[in-house]
Amino acid sequence: MDEKTSVTMLKGVGEKRASALAKSGLFTLGDLCSFYPKSYENRQNVMPLSRALGLENAVSFILTVGTAPSLARIRKNMNVLKFRAFDETGTIDVIFFNAPFLKSVFAPGMQFRFFGRLTVSKTRRVQLIAPKFEEYSDGAVLPDIVPIYRVPDGFSQKSIAGTVKMALSLILPSVKDPFSEEFCERYDLPSKREALRKIHAPKSMEEVEKALHRTVFEELYFFALGLSLFRSSERSLTVDSFENTDLTPFYNQLPFSMTGAQLRAVADFSRDMCREAHEKIAPMTRILVGDVGSGKTVVAAAAVYLTLRNQRQAAMMVPTEILARQHYEELAPLFEKFGFKTALLIGSMTKKQKEAVYLAVKENKIDFLIGTHALLNENVQIPRLSLTITDEQHRFGVMQRAALKQKSEASHLLVMSATPIPRTLALTMYGDLDLSLLDEMPPNRQRVDTFLVDSTYKDRLHAFIRRQTDAGGQVYIVCPCIEDDEEGENELLSAVSYAKELEDHVFPDLRIAFLHGKMKSEEREKIMHAFSCRELDILVSTTVIEVGVNVPNACLMIIENAERFGLSQLHQLRGRVGRGSRKSYCVLVSDSQGESARARLETIRTTYDGYKIAEADLEQRGPGDFFASMSDGEFRQSGGFTLKSAHLCNDSTLMEKAFRAARDTLDFDRDLSLPEHRMILEEVRRLFNFRRDTLS
Ligand code: ADP
Ligand code: MG
Repeated sequence: MDEKTSVTMLKGVGEKRASALAKSGLFTLGDLCSFYPKSYENRQNVMPLSRALGLENAVSFILTVGTAPSLARIRKNMNVLKFRAFDETGTIDVIFFNAPFLKSVFAPGMQFRFFGRLTVSKTRRVQLIAPKFEEYSDGAVLPDIVPIYRVPDGFSQKSIAGTVKMALSLILPSVKDPFSEEFCERYDLPSKREALRKIHAPKSMEEVEKALHRTVFEELYFFALGLSLFRSSERSLTVDSFENTDLTPFYNQLPFSMTGAQLRAVADFSRDMCREAHEKIAPMTRILVGDVGSGKTVVAAAAVYLTLRNQRQAAMMVPTEILARQHYEELAPLFEKFGFKTALLIGSMTKKQKEAVYLAVKENKIDFLIGTHALLNENVQIPRLSLTITDEQHRFGVMQRAALKQKSEASHLLVMSATPIPRTLALTMYGDLDLSLLDEMPPNRQRVDTFLVDSTYKDRLHAFIRRQTDAGGQVYIVCPCIEDDEEGENELLSAVSYAKELEDHVFPDLRIAFLHGKMKSEEREKIMHAFSCRELDILVSTTVIEVGVNVPNACLMIIENAERFGLSQLHQLRGRVGRGSRKSYCVLVSDSQGESARARLETIRTTYDGYKIAEADLEQRGPGDFFASMSDGEFRQSGGFTLKSAHLCNDSTLMEKAFRAARDTLDFDRDLSLPEHRMILEEVRRLFNFRRDTLS
């Protein structure tokens, strides 16, 4: 047995579970060992009830069950189990949704260690919803630190944790370390074996921290190595330069004049792509970073115009169908004015439609192709491709961008970032991409007035929603993201029940739809589309509304449990409104009393500059969130590089250390050809292995 042994060798893992694991990218025992917990629960910290209200994080309570659990059906497919529990300082309601089997677990007089956050119900009762629980009798030894994993289908939190443990105990003795002892010493890292043990079975949070330090370092180090190796191979390619091209005709077709920042960005890539004659030049690799609404699309369109004017083709890849459609609807008529043909290619088109596009593109009848990752299909051949654009780039792996570029010998690359990344982070993450920054907003942008309220404002909020919809506006309500574990189920249920309550009791006459992350993407897109066509008044969503979607008529964004979102995320969400002429508002709803949560929400309420917000986010929470947003679940299977643990990185100096180490290694051994780097090279190759066959 070693790292490469298949997961099916494990007890309890049959065909069904193996395929569920495969969906999470887990094929071998080694994969399981590097399936890092997404978080840890520190259940060490036991609080009296009287001191726990308003705390930001979950804590433990030792409580005695006070009443026998009662089970009530509150509607079809939904029941609620409820009982009272107390300690010396108070009494609360403990509540579980859809868990009737727990009725026999809790009996009056029994003691449990619960783990969760106290909340206050609409009727002002203090409650603990769906807490974790372990029976507690005096003297019982309960583990203090509990790793929490993402849960693949067909597993429970307990069973996936057990499966990982099993894999670990089988192969830990034979685990090889790509880092030498000397390397570990130099960078103050524990060995691989020690790190793995402490990641999955830590005795204290200090152990977790040390081990995470190593895994995050390792991952960022390989990431940096891979990027550098990949880009130096890119740099050796050359493309024909374009002729200097006058953009005035393009600008003349726009209904506005470009901002200074937009013009500077256009000048940047004109310089990259254009020379006097048809010289051979290195392809452009540039990232365009700009706040929501800073006008990245038209800047990219200018690059497309340059390309088409030089008798070449351009392609733009975006992460969702609705975004692809919006770009198509906006840009196709613009380029039509110059006689250029634009086509759309998305997964939901019929085979026949797709084939027509393949053919037209191949025969040079299409100048500009816009689409989703359907563009990566091997039937897509773009003979004169010279410019590749990816929008909202962080959702695509580096390798997917590469795959699109491979549609031609060599093409220029323009990457558009969805979020304003702090400059320091951008320079580290995209160190070898050239950076263009849109640091100026188009004029007359309205300010989205932002309010911070607690849930006692619900009635007033409903009246406010009513006023907006009466006036013909549309409303987003966002609840925290669903995670794929048991807790998430409950979060989903409470969001569903909130949507139902609005639909049945508060706004029975309005058109309300509910959107969540577990829906099929076609279904999600359909609802988003309906909302953007004004066929819906209110969109309740547990998932982050597609980044970049433009619904100018939406004028109110309500964010429930706002303290659970990252600052940059909140800013992105707020950017979904205020896109048209309607005066727009953002309401942050939070009952959190925690000091840092209040401070963060206050930052959003008073700050409108995406860069300042991103800097504050980076300062307060470290770069982890930015990394998290770079690797999206849906694309995990598509090859490319997945950052598995970097989202746990809350320390910018660690990131810098890893990137510096990668540079040092390459300075010393440019192509990792020395024997001592053999395992490192193998690992980089493995991590960046792009499996084209897995793409649709
Ligand atoms: P983002 O950077 O978020 O992708 P978009 O490209 O979607 O922003 O632009 C947001 C809106 O601003 C669009 O409706 C676009 O037409 C408009 N816009 C872009 N540039 C300007 C400008 N210079 N002046 C006025 N409006 C602009
Ligand atoms: Mg955009």
